[in-house]
Amino acid sequence: MSLPGEPTTSRAVAKLQALVRIPTVSDRDPAKVDVQAFDDFVTELAVQFPVLHDTLELTRVDSHGLLFHWPGASAERPVVLMAHLDVVPVEGTWQHPAFGGDVVDGHIWGRGTLDDKGSLVGICEAVETLLERGFTPAQDVWLSFGCNEEVSGTSAVLAVEELARRGVRPWFVLDEGGAVASEAFPGVKAPIGVIGLTEKGVTSLELRVEGRGGHASTPTPMGPTARIARAIVRLDRAPMAPRTPSPTIELFRRMAPHGPLPLRPVFANAARLKPLLTRALLAAGPETSAMTRTTFAVTTLSGSPALNVIAATARAGVNIRIMVGDTVADVLEHVRTVVADDQVEVDVVERNEPSPVSPMDEAFELLEATIGEVFPDAVAAPYVMMAATDSRFFTEICERVYRFAPFRMTKAQRQAIHSYDEHLGVDAFVDGVRWYQRLIERIPA
Ligand SMILES: [Zn+2]
Repeated sequence: MSLPGEPTTSRAVAKLQALVRIPTVSDRDPAKVDVQAFDDFVTELAVQFPVLHDTLELTRVDSHGLLFHWPGASAERPVVLMAHLDVVPVEGTWQHPAFGGDVVDGHIWGRGTLDDKGSLVGICEAVETLLERGFTPAQDVWLSFGCNEEVSGTSAVLAVEELARRGVRPWFVLDEGGAVASEAFPGVKAPIGVIGLTEKGVTSLELRVEGRGGHASTPTPMGPTARIARAIVRLDRAPMAPRTPSPTIELFRRMAPHGPLPLRPVFANAARLKPLLTRALLAAGPETSAMTRTTFAVTTLSGSPALNVIAATARAGVNIRIMVGDTVADVLEHVRTVVADDQVEVDVVERNEPSPVSPMDEAFELLEATIGEVFPDAVAAPYVMMAATDSRFFTEICERVYRFAPFRMTKAQRQAIHSYDEHLGVDAFVDGVRWYQRLIERIPA
């Protein structure tokens, strides 16, 4: 808690520290979830943000999902600010304890600082500060905090159902996703404030071949394991067609003045030079390649449980990230055509289409202008998100869904997400709080 005369920056940092220290690790298996930690988090949030809890109406969704309603001067164009309170498990060796929330060398260290408690506390601190000043937003503001984002849980789905039930049609929704990213692209010096307009669709398939099984001493050619292997190799050799979608074209156009001199004309004319740009992205490595197409990764494999038994069933799990422009149906057709084997059964385990592309109209311009105000050196730009967020469910009730967390992040920091040594700069966090505050203040009547 802040002492008299102490700047409010340390107040916000202390709140983030307190909430990072609570290990809200989610798990697909409810029996493995530390429910007490989630209870403690919800309690601590109320302690840290008393005015917010006194003023805003809270609806609990799912086990620990939180939906706050802040009535504005108008309910006509409501705004939804999202974050999630769960984190992924701790892996690897950390320089500072993963649930310590230590401030060292100007950074707050710990699981969740970037993903996604930084945003959650940033939003709450912005609201708390505005409430203390007696501020009323021009439009209704809803805060939707999920409790199982990291395990594709249902709290965001239930929050959407609750809003729909109340007849709320958000003007725009803002969730995690992009950031004020430095070293975003080789040779680009300026930080890029990337705002996700769409995200790839996560879909998983299981390829399965059944056979006779039997003793390993008398194998027949092209048994289940060989067929599965052939299918995998065929899939690996025949990726789906690449393309550069419109948000990526606009990203390059906006980066052009800041790009490496020889590439500036290519960036600036990205729309006209689309095939050239697509080929360059494909050649530049797996990350940029994933920006241009639907990707397939064979992640799980199984055959016989014993060394001397021929597999009666062989299975391969395929995790697919569907690019905007392709559909689950396109993917299934591609897999069947490329594998070209009737004996390989294809089952859909999980199905998600890519999200619709949000428009770059007044709401996008509001985010852009707020980035310009708080991060004057950064270039705001749209992009296609590779990972999935809870906000995809909000596309059911809202056509403007944006993915952006207002924090400066280096490449090393972005790599620490879901890995070890996750940390957020103290100054970056304070700027982020200010960004959320300015965003709310700027919501037009
Ligand atoms: Zn997240």
